Amino acid sequence: MNRSGMEQMWQMEFQRLFVQYLPHLWFLSPVEEKPIGSWGAFVDSAKVRFCCEKCGHGWTSMKGRVAFWFTLNPLTCEGLVVFKLFGQQCDRCNSERYEHAMWYPEEVIKVLANVYNRIGQVYYGFYQPPIHRSRRPGKPRTPHNSNLCQACKNSVCTERR
Ligand SMILES: [Zn+2]
Ligand SMILES: [Zn+2]
Repeated sequence: MNRSGMEQMWQMEFQRLFVQYLPHLWFLSPVEEKPIGSWGAFVDSAKVRFCCEKCGHGWTSMKGRVAFWFTLNPLTCEGLVVFKLFGQQCDRCNSERYEHAMWYPEEVIKVLANVYNRIGQVYYGFYQPPIHRSRRPGKPRTPHNSNLCQACKNSVCTERR
């Protein structure tokens, strides 16, 4: 799936869930950095694939990280969720770049359901939101390498339980 197809999948699944919060209108937008100000935060992880653009090496990570930040303006009835997908560096070549994660559709659905429930807890009185930690079956060939992980570098890659 190409990049714009990916973005469309995130947007469609987000709207399918968050339309349930009408009359509040919620929007989803990708960001490069954590936004400034007072935002709720939710970090999740998923099984994702990477492919190095420099040498072609591909790998699977169980700790593909996503960070969400969210806020609701009750005066305008508009809520905003911004998110960042973290990359990982290739361990086969000296590429300094963080490769973009390729997300499986069911993992997108899972993390959006989790942030939907977290927001429900914060703003809509949900009690004990069901956080789904299940991932696609299968083991990555190598353990998580913090030195190559952008989320580790940004201090959002710690297990929260
Ligand atoms: Zn590489
Ligand atoms: Zn990490």
